Amino acid sequence: MIKYFINKEIDSKVNQWTIEFLIFSAGFKAKKVNKLKPDVNFYYGNDIGEIEIVKKALIIKYQKNISEKLNIDNQNLLQKNEIDFDIISSTKLFLTDEIHNNLAISDFDIHNRLKFNSSYQNNNSFGSTPIVNYYVMLLTKCIEDKLKLKSYALYPKKYKSVIILSHDVDEPFRYAILKDFNSRISNLKSTNKIKYCWLSLRKKLRKILLKGEESYLNFEQIIKTEMKYGFNSTFFFSSKSKFDKKSNFVFDNSYDVSWSDFENIFSLINTKGFEVGLHSSYNSPDELSNFISEKNRLEKYAKRKILGNRQHFWNLGPHSKNTLKMHQEAGLEYDSSLAFNDSPGYRNNVALPYHPFNNQNKTSIKTLQIPNFIMDTNLITNNTINEKNILEKAIHLIQELEKSKGVASLNWHVRMAYPNDPKLAIYGKTYINILKHLSSKKDIWVTSFENYYKWYCERRNSIEALK
Ligand SMILES: [Zn+2]
Repeated sequence: MIKYFINKEIDSKVNQWTIEFLIFSAGFKAKKVNKLKPDVNFYYGNDIGEIEIVKKALIIKYQKNISEKLNIDNQNLLQKNEIDFDIISSTKLFLTDEIHNNLAISDFDIHNRLKFNSSYQNNNSFGSTPIVNYYVMLLTKCIEDKLKLKSYALYPKKYKSVIILSHDVDEPFRYAILKDFNSRISNLKSTNKIKYCWLSLRKKLRKILLKGEESYLNFEQIIKTEMKYGFNSTFFFSSKSKFDKKSNFVFDNSYDVSWSDFENIFSLINTKGFEVGLHSSYNSPDELSNFISEKNRLEKYAKRKILGNRQHFWNLGPHSKNTLKMHQEAGLEYDSSLAFNDSPGYRNNVALPYHPFNNQNKTSIKTLQIPNFIMDTNLITNNTINEKNILEKAIHLIQELEKSKGVASLNWHVRMAYPNDPKLAIYGKTYINILKHLSSKKDIWVTSFENYYKWYCERRNSIEALK
């Protein structure tokens, strides 16, 4: 057990939260002690008298203005045998996103997402490296060496990293907007009625010219392909369509999970051991009841319990922490919405799950945040349409995840995860190439959010039971 003590001048809830994240991720049980005794084995502070009492402890010195001298050199971190910088403040800056506190509104896009070009990691050229993972690795090494404790493994069996496969279900029925026209138009406001008529007309023409009615409907092929390699994945479904009250008519999906077309799809996902998650609607951050009603509705039609969520458009609203808190209040066990939309990488510089810190009431949010590091449209941009180059780019990102012993998800939309539609074929081919590549990597556990989350809970319970 790690008995940690924080010098009273810097003893805050957020520092406790950061220390506990680091120690838990490193594979040890943390316990805060408020009295300094010689059996304290982890000390954070600068008081010479206190350090004298806990000579044998792991000492982390507090540094003011850490943002000016952050250690972001992963090679250097791997070679270290001691912690000679403020690993606590460094971790805190990234996980709480304080590192981006001074940005302007223009550094975010219209969907409240940080632009990669404005990010600290891009400006310091370490976009594909989750640096907090290197802090955790260094801490693990130092605790094992100095305190002679054995760390609890991060992953089951002999796995060294985890890739979670996930699919946002955006418009799997290509012409869904044309269905139930008469009843749906009556629900809309007059401006949206005009938009809807125009959109329907365009879709009707496309249907005649392009056909491909089922070219986005790839559930069966995705499941079959992933199963071939022994993988499984999570499908995030919208349970509110653009025609529902309070929806966003432009950005929300057109389909309705109550349609009978989904019965077989949900049944297939459930019986094959894959997962259904919630793809919460564009306006869901407006109020808590949205999350509750969307989750309940999806549970009803998918005939299963919904554990996790991903925000449609990664849109966490203008106050992301409030939205993350709503996830907890709606009973969601995990969420995976903190990501870059316009580039692969790690939004919070971490490829490990964590419970975000809620600054309002100074506690951690129960819903576990699990990072996403690659998406179909941010890997494949117009500049890289060569299949070989794209795969190399993906392999490089996967190698970086492996080196950091991380866990992160891939997001491949259902319509893009199998090459059925000629215009989207490059995405489908790339996805299959990535799966093939992953099948040769025996150290990487490739699985769904649900399976990974179960392991996370098992590990947490085992660590809590340690003496
Ligand atoms: Zn979406």
